[in-house]
Amino acid sequence: MTHTKLSAPEALAELKAGHDRFVKAISKHPHSSQQRLNRLVSGQHPLAMVLGCSDSRVPIELLFDVGFGDLFIIRNAGNTCTESSLASIEYGLEALNIDLLVVLGHEGCGAVAAACSEQKSLSPNLSQLVLHIRQELEGGGVPLEPQVAVHRHPELTAQQLIRNSQLVQERVSSGALMIVPACYTFDHGNIEWLEATLSA
Ligand SMILES: [Zn+2]
Repeated sequence: MTHTKLSAPEALAELKAGHDRFVKAISKHPHSSQQRLNRLVSGQHPLAMVLGCSDSRVPIELLFDVGFGDLFIIRNAGNTCTESSLASIEYGLEALNIDLLVVLGHEGCGAVAAACSEQKSLSPNLSQLVLHIRQELEGGGVPLEPQVAVHRHPELTAQQLIRNSQLVQERVSSGALMIVPACYTFDHGNIEWLEATLSA
């Protein structure tokens, strides 16, 4: 990775290359030294944002074989469009001028599975988040089957991010932001890239 600002497609190619190394078990673990971190003290210029799930089996820097300063990451249960994820993404756009956002879902996602089933005993906050995902899936005409839903949820989240943030909408409309939904599959150990959301 260079210090030159990459275009969104170039940044995406970097992420795909890093993920290929991870899949082939030839990760380089770049940018992981104290020296690299020292160079970043004055500021960060990450090549992309990732909205991912909090799930411990989806460690984003490892999956993309990147290190300090490479990714601006937002994580919550179910890689969900919430006020705080939107606010963080808007920071990434305005303050850091990032032009690539990956929405990374994954197979076996507990939040999506909960949204697909009748849950009775969730805490109030969690219940609200799960209901949000359920309504999104229902609104998108997605069958409430976890195996199917995990592959559609990232794309629906991308659409919600656009709908719920004027800034995101403007950047996508003007071509200044590319949003790419993707799904990490445990079975194959790789990321399934979905269609980029290029227009609002
Ligand atoms: Zn998850």
